[in-house]
Formats: sequence, C-alpha cells, structure tokens
Amino acid sequence: MKAEEGTGSSHESRVTSHTARARKRAGEGKVYLIGAGPGDPELLTFKAARTLGEADVVLVDDLVDRRVLAHARPGARVVEVGKRGGCKSTPQAFIEKLMVRLARRGAVVARLKGGDPFLFGRGGEELLALRAAGVDADVVPGVTAGLAAPGALGIPVTHRDLARAVTLLTGHARDGSAPDWRALLASRSTLVIYMGMARLGALVADMLGAGFPADLPACAIQNATLPGQREIRAPLAALARAVAAAGLASPAIVVVGDVVRLASAEARAERAPRAA
Ligand code: SAH
Repeated sequence: MKAEEGTGSSHESRVTSHTARARKRAGEGKVYLIGAGPGDPELLTFKAARTLGEADVVLVDDLVDRRVLAHARPGARVVEVGKRGGCKSTPQAFIEKLMVRLARRGAVVARLKGGDPFLFGRGGEELLALRAAGVDADVVPGVTAGLAAPGALGIPVTHRDLARAVTLLTGHARDGSAPDWRALLASRSTLVIYMGMARLGALVADMLGAGFPADLPACAIQNATLPGQREIRAPLAALARAVAAAGLASPAIVVVGDVVRLASAEARAERAPRAA
C-alpha cells in the first residue's frame, strides 16, 4: 500500500514537472507562492521542495531559512527580497512587479515566504497582484510559525479542557487599530500573536485593561524550530518584563492562554533559569 502511494506521488511530480516544461516551451511563465515553513528545513512540505526545484528564479524573504534553498535547481537565480520590519527592505510593489515581469518573460518563479504564505505575510496581496496581471499562480501552503512554535514546546493550542478555539492575530495592524480584546477574552480562545514583540508592553497593558487575568499563562517563543530557539514563560502581567530581561526579540510568537501550562516539562527545566 505504502509503496503504491509512493509510486503514485513520484509519478504525479514527474507529470507536473513535465507540465511546467511544456508551459515553458509555450513561453508562459508561472509563479508559485510557497510557504517555506517556520524555520526547521524538515518542516518544508514535499510540494514546496518539488515546486522550488522547478523554478528558474527564486525570490526569498529574510525569514526563510537558507538551507531550504538546497531544493532549488542548480543554476536557478536567487533574489533576496527580505522586508523585515524596520530594516532595509524591498518595497512590496517592486516585488509584485518583478514577479509579473519574470513570469511574462516565461520564467517559473518560486516566491518563498516564511511559514504559510497567507498568514501575515502579504501573500494575499501578491496573489491578487498576479491575478490582476493575468499571471498563472499556484499557492503551496506551509506550516505557520504560529502553530509550529507552540507545537515545538508541546503546547496543544486547542486542548478541549482549556480552550474553545485558537486565534491567530498580529500585534502590528496596518492601520494601528487594536484587536477587540474583550471579544477575544469571551471567546475562550488561545491567542497566538505574530509580530508582537515591538509593542509587547502596550499589548499586554491593553489585554489587562480589557479584563484578561494577570496570572493567565503566557509565553514568547523566539526562532521556533531552529537551533537558536528560546522561550520565556511568565504570567501575562509579567511577560513583557521577563521578555526584556531575557533579551528575547523578533522573530517571536506570543502564546496566551491556559494551554501554555501544558508546555513540556523538559522545556520548562531547560529554559526556566533564563526566565528568572
Ligand atoms: N507567514 C509567516 C508569518 C510572517 S509575519 C508564518 O506563517 O509563519 C512574521 C512573524 O512571524 C514574525 O514577526 C514572528 O512573529 C513570526 N515568526 C516567523 N517565523 C518565526 C519563528 N521561527 N519563530 C517565532 N516566530 C516566527
């Protein structure tokens, strides 16, 4: 059974790369918006590796672990288009125009984005720009940091005794507006906050102001799934101070909710001294 499945999928990938070559002969390019996963290259999907291997040009974000590029074709052109908040960056409009131009010239383009392309990564904007330009685009979903980070610590984000849902949100809204914290509190949802480190103190103050308990378990996880992974756990009211004391910084995921209590004992023993 297993062997048959294996044969089936390699046949499918042969068919697909054949299709990609036929498309190229016809002078048509295409763009794959690929989720490269949270960091650990083993969390790349088979489909991400295969489509990356078909690309003539790879446009790569700065949160993508460079070991992933081992799956690119030898000779593929790699363009760094990182745009981490506050750092030197490639304007989004430029990236979108570049993808359109390359695809129109017949190139197969791999747009490698950290985690999942549609979670806080502007993948949606890129897909719309490609569609508007009439460029063929496929999306390859990825393992998002917001689920991989708690997963790596053994935190089951929707354990049914402790949470009714999980909410993925950003601490950095485009228009500067705040989430509806009261509604989130009432939803008994585990909160997973992306890009929350720069404003962590203000975020926590808003949450406490909306009625979140000061002793609600919380943690911040930096470089999740990578060798440099570090996390700090603290009651919500003490989180920002603990994070600052430990020098934790972006990229990090903040998890808030009772499920954080279930983080593995191993992680606790290993990291606790730094949280003190
Ligand atoms: N599309 C990505 C998120 C892009 S927004 C995804 O699905 O994961 C960038 C934010 O993601 C960072 O500020 C941080 O909050 C989070 N992030 C990405 N990689 C991370 C990692 N390895 N560890 C912790 N947080 C990470």
